[in-house]
Amino acid sequence: MPESLTPELLKLQTGVKSFIEEELRPLDEGLDGDPYAPIPDQVRRRVRETSEASGLYGASLPSDVGGLESGPLALVVIREALAECNSRLARFVLGPRLGALRAARGEARKRFLEPLIRGEIATAFAFTEPSGTDAPQRPTWANRDGEELVITGRKSYVTNGGSADFFTVLVNVDEDDAGPGGAAMVIVEKDTPGLSITRTFASMEGGSHVELALEKVRTPISNVLGEIGQGMPRAMDTIGEERLEQAANATGLMLWAVGLVTQHITGPHRSGRRLGDLEGVRMRYADMRIETYAARSMLYRTARLVDSGDAAINEVMATKVFCSEAAGRVIDQAVQLVGGQALVVGHPLEHAYRRVRSMRLSGGASDILRLGVARGAIEFEAGRL
Ligand SMILES: Cc1cc2nc3c(=O)[nH]c(=O)nc-3n(C[C@H](O)[C@H](O)[C@H](O)COP(=O)(O)OP(=O)(O)OC[C@H]3O[C@@H](n4cnc5c(N)ncnc54)[C@H](O)[C@@H]3O)c2cc1C
Repeated sequence: MPESLTPELLKLQTGVKSFIEEELRPLDEGLDGDPYAPIPDQVRRRVRETSEASGLYGASLPSDVGGLESGPLALVVIREALAECNSRLARFVLGPRLGALRAARGEARKRFLEPLIRGEIATAFAFTEPSGTDAPQRPTWANRDGEELVITGRKSYVTNGGSADFFTVLVNVDEDDAGPGGAAMVIVEKDTPGLSITRTFASMEGGSHVELALEKVRTPISNVLGEIGQGMPRAMDTIGEERLEQAANATGLMLWAVGLVTQHITGPHRSGRRLGDLEGVRMRYADMRIETYAARSMLYRTARLVDSGDAAINEVMATKVFCSEAAGRVIDQAVQLVGGQALVVGHPLEHAYRRVRSMRLSGGASDILRLGVARGAIEFEAGRL
């Protein structure tokens, strides 16, 4: 599948790889060796400047805000190549993932979407509700009061929420005389009275997150993205984008791991023989290649379906599950073949091991997506084989 790319997409792939070698690698080599250390602002700015100059920054952005609006397949090509270089700077190359914010109009567009794209402000996506004994009785909800929504609830896992200037929050609006109810994606500014960060925490792969409490938070109804009642499809658009992105990231990371292990097992070993000459090692190495081949085949087939405009929610879910789980197995195998050094804190495989573990939860837990795939087939006759 990747080998039947059009000449334009092949050119794009070559361009991304040159960008990585010429711009990203030198910056990466200048970083602190600790993979968990924060990236200095000037380095982020430099990545952005160079990616803007090379035309990559706008690849994921809509054309009406100056982006190139590259389709899902082109984005998979870019993201896979970026993930394959396994640089901590790769995530700053493309512009922000807009998701539901694409629907921002009028004032909301000027105040939030445009400065976000210019890199002047930051946002975070607040979807997941708390679970466990202290979970509120009711998921985050809102009622209308004149031209405002009054929101109450909690959101438990908001990535980069600590540095966000505004949040895109999924709420359930009550139906009343003023209009219908239903799910809505709403922009809420960080400094709005009633909104507080109740917990700040880090996850094992190095991500930083917050928990939000919303206590009668007032936000203008004009901050609703799309219509009230469209929140779930809008949230699903955001998540669908994220899932295909994660599948591309997982697959790129598998390519990187296969490359690293190929070098390791074909290089000298203290036993005097190359590890790659041992049959047992070859079997494991072959499994890594087989999984990577299967994941890439699936990723590109799904990206083509999405690119064609066909409904492919189920295929995207299936691809996210397969690629993230296959990446887990491949990185695990890579750790085993490289040996104890791979577990030394700061080794790129140690960090990759943490990253792939989080991919099976973020963007939708594997089993929840499995339920979605089965439901799509049994109840809606959706999903290809
Ligand atoms: C690194 C990272 C970043 C994240 N970033 C964000 C973010 O920016 N914004 C955001 O809103 N959320 C974010 N999340 C949250 C993420 O979306 C959730 O963790 C995920 O959807 C799972 O929800 P949960 O953690 O509440 O687990 P739960 O829903 O409690 O599920 C726990 C487990 O129970 C099982 N389970 C649950 N329900 C069912 C069922 N019906 N049938 C069968 N099995 C079931 C599954 O095995 C599941 O894995 C992030 C998570 C991670 C790990």
